Amino acid sequence: MSRFAGKRALVMGVANKRSIAWAIARRLADEGAELAFTFQGERIEGNVRELASSVGSPLVTPCDVRADEDLERVFGEVAEAWDGRLDLLVHSVAFAAAEDLEGRFTDTPRDRFWLAVDISAYSLVAAARAAEPLMAAAGGGSIVTMTYLGGERAVPHYNVMGVAKATLDASVKYLAWDLGERDIRVNAVSAGPVRTLAARSIAGFTEMESMFVERAPLRRHIDADDVGAAAAYLLSDDAKNVTGTTLYVDAGYHAMGM
Ligand code: NAD
Repeated sequence: MSRFAGKRALVMGVANKRSIAWAIARRLADEGAELAFTFQGERIEGNVRELASSVGSPLVTPCDVRADEDLERVFGEVAEAWDGRLDLLVHSVAFAAAEDLEGRFTDTPRDRFWLAVDISAYSLVAAARAAEPLMAAAGGGSIVTMTYLGGERAVPHYNVMGVAKATLDASVKYLAWDLGERDIRVNAVSAGPVRTLAARSIAGFTEMESMFVERAPLRRHIDADDVGAAAAYLLSDDAKNVTGTTLYVDAGYHAMGM
C-alpha cells in the first residue's frame, strides 16, 4: 500500500523506539511518506537520529514546544526542506511533573498545572498555527494528536495530565473548525495503556494495565502499532471527511460503565 506516496510529514514526539510517535512514523514511512522529526533534549538526540535515518529522513531538528522561537525555526526548516509545503503533522507530545502523577490532583501547584497544559495541549495549537500556511500551500493537510480517556473521566493518578488532555480534546475541535475551510483536518487517537517512557512516570501504571485487560470488551492489551494504524487512517485520504473527532484504540474500554 502506498497511501502516503509523495506526502511530507512532520513527526513530533519520538523519544525512543517504544514511542507511539515512532510507531506512527514507521507506518507512514512503510506507506511511502517522507518524514521529518523533532526531538526534545540532547539526551534522546542520538536515538531519534538513528531511528530517523532508518527511514531516510531529510530533517531531524530539536524542538522544545514551550519555546515559540523553536517552533518558528522548526517550521521554517520544514518549509525550506519541502518547498514551503507540508501534508501531515503528528503531535505526540505530553509532559507533567512526576510528583503530579501520584497523590491528589487537588494538590497540583499553579506553575506545574500550567506546565502540563502548556506542553501537552497548547503545543498542538501553536504547532497547528505554524503548520497552517504550509498545509494550505500543499492544498490541505491532516493533523493527528494523542489523547487518553483520563481527559474525559477521572482516572486516579492521571491527575493534571487528565486536565491537560481535556484541554487538548477541546482544542482538536476548535482547530478542526478554524482549519477546515483550508481543508486541514484535525483529529485525535485515544489510546489504551502502552508501555512507553511517558507511561512509566504515571504512578500505578501497572495497575491501570491489569484493570484495563479485565474490563476491556476485547480483554487484551493494545500496542503502539495498533495506534500507528489508526493514526495512519486519520492522516490518510481514506479519512477525507473525518475531522474534529477522537478514534479510540483501547480494545473497547471506553464503552464500559464499570
Ligand atoms: P514518549 O515518552 O515516548 O513520548 C512523549 C514525547 O513527548 C517524548 O518524545 C518527549 O520528548 C516529548 N516531550 C515532552 N516534553 C516536551 C517538550 N517540552 N517539547 C517537546 N517535546 C516534549 O511516550 P508516549 O507514550 O509515546 O507519548 C506520546 C503521546 O501519547 C503523549 O501525548 C501521551 O500522553 C499519549 N498517550 C500515551 C499513552 C500510553 O499509554 N503510553 C496512552 C494514551 C495517550
